[in-house]
Amino acid sequence: MNIIVADYSGFCFGVERAIKIVEETSDKGGRVYTLGPIIHNPQLVKKLEEKGVNVKKSVEDVEKDDVVVIRSHGIPKQHMDKLKDNKISVVDATCPFVTRAQRQVSILSSSGYFLVVFGEKEHPEVKGIVSYANNGFVVVENSDEVERYVGFHDKIGVVAQTTQNKAKFDMVVDALKSKCNELKIVNTICNATDQRQEAAKKVALISDIMYVIGGKNSGNTTRLYEICKDICPKVFHIETKDEIDKSDLIGVENIGITAGASTPKFLIDEVIEFLKEVEHAG
Ligand code: SF4
Repeated sequence: MNIIVADYSGFCFGVERAIKIVEETSDKGGRVYTLGPIIHNPQLVKKLEEKGVNVKKSVEDVEKDDVVVIRSHGIPKQHMDKLKDNKISVVDATCPFVTRAQRQVSILSSSGYFLVVFGEKEHPEVKGIVSYANNGFVVVENSDEVERYVGFHDKIGVVAQTTQNKAKFDMVVDALKSKCNELKIVNTICNATDQRQEAAKKVALISDIMYVIGGKNSGNTTRLYEICKDICPKVFHIETKDEIDKSDLIGVENIGITAGASTPKFLIDEVIEFLKEVEHAG
């Protein structure tokens, strides 16, 4: 059995940075919380809880002496304003790529563009991004939704959730061309996403079976899974090695592995170790 691990599997720059910020903040002491999970990986969030860094679900739950670390994918502007108004100690671990997307939305809105965001409607990053739109907005999850939900506007500005698929973003952009007199395109998909998706495609092409490791709540991991599924005959989205069914490996020669930007290295290593054990046992 060959185990082929895709390049760029696991933590991206923004996630590594956010975790470092949380750990440094926690080392300084005090009641440190993250507002929502710091990244979309339940196993890593659990490890942080063991160190005393817990998750507060909403800005209303924050108390006066709490230190609040803002997650890598940001929070809505109103929540940030509320924390500041209440003089809460805030440490901002928002990824610079997400901050850029928020800033672009703000600029487009102030310049009179109606905003279209290509992304998942319920994703926290998207909710954060649209909070900077003050001139009307629509979130679309694919190009079909452009037809359904976007009316005609003089000027439309379009951005993407940072972890979206570039090919699908291009389809959304094409669909928007007939919806306005002027279309301003700002590609806010981050490098880490592009790199992971391209590397995953290469591995999917030569694998008989593929494991995509990462939180089931992780948008970028889900996208990797969808991309690989279109190429490789057998693809599984797993959070840990415990979800691997050994019977799927019978007769398999090439096993591909990739992992989302929020997947810690120890989870990837555990999957590789498990697969090696299966091979030796077989
Ligand atoms: S996936 Fe991209 S935008 Fe998200 S945290 Fe990583 S580098 Fe930042």
